[in-house]
Amino acid sequence: MTRVEPDPAGTPAGGRAFAIGLRNRFRGITVREGMLVRGPAGWGEFSPFAEYGPRECARWWAACQEAARHGWPAPVRDRVPVNVTVPAVDPERAHAIAAAGGCATAKVKVAERGQEEAEDLARVEAVRDALGPSGRVRVDANGAWDPDTAVRMVRALDRFGLEYVEQPCATLDELAAVRRRVSVPVAADESIRRAEDPLRVRAADAADIVVLKVQPLGGVLAALRVAEACGLPVVVSSAVETSVGLAAGVALAAALPELPHACGLATMQMLTADVTTDPLLPSDGFLPVRPVEVDEESLRAVEVDPAAWRARAEAARSAGGDAGSG
Ligand SMILES: [Mg+2]
Repeated sequence: MTRVEPDPAGTPAGGRAFAIGLRNRFRGITVREGMLVRGPAGWGEFSPFAEYGPRECARWWAACQEAARHGWPAPVRDRVPVNVTVPAVDPERAHAIAAAGGCATAKVKVAERGQEEAEDLARVEAVRDALGPSGRVRVDANGAWDPDTAVRMVRALDRFGLEYVEQPCATLDELAAVRRRVSVPVAADESIRRAEDPLRVRAADAADIVVLKVQPLGGVLAALRVAEACGLPVVVSSAVETSVGLAAGVALAAALPELPHACGLATMQMLTADVTTDPLLPSDGFLPVRPVEVDEESLRAVEVDPAAWRARAEAARSAGGDAGSG
């Protein structure tokens, strides 16, 4: 493989933009876009979603700069457990995906618009059957239930043994109300989009677990501080990045003092291509903690005009982008 020479400064001017197809629509997009920069510490990824303005992008840029210029805190483990994700498919397909994933933990999508509650029950039952009694099964409603539906469905689905329910409802008040009425732990995902959100979740008694992503929180170190301040167990999740961005999520998961739950970092398969010849893919349910080296040929195959991304990174930097990267 051909290594790419460092751009010593890791600045927007040296950024390489990419556009990679998604196997399935995600957040309404079919192509994942972003920019990679290389600095003295390695590669960083800057891939905020299109709707984010410069102030929000500043944290994503800080995460990219941390990876490229400063590096990450020392790991306390050399591999990170991950979950297989089962989309809102029929039970036979769900069983096959869970069994093929090789992971001890599965996250099952529920509350899909247009589907019946019986479909959720059949899907979760199939996944429990695939993983066996020792497997962990969590469900993710992406905020789609109202509190009464959430309580009823969580109780019904817990027949198959739930590790936790992720974002059963949209708001903090609703999460807190559901949490008071069910014994299954509640995890907050969509409720956390910036550094102060985990503290708000905690203050509202809205969740037992927080799902944290590196880029929106401004880097691995920033996310570690958020986790410490929040005090709740953390599940590290990706923003569906290339292996360069995933490595930052793995670094966070590897540096957390406690990691009681598998992480949502096995997302490389959602993309149709990667920027390295050695993608961060799970093996026996774990991702290795290691650097990712970009391969010139692989990058060129997905490379696009960087002008718009460099301008976006400059705007993010002007909005305060290097804060939090130290
Ligand atoms: Mg989620």
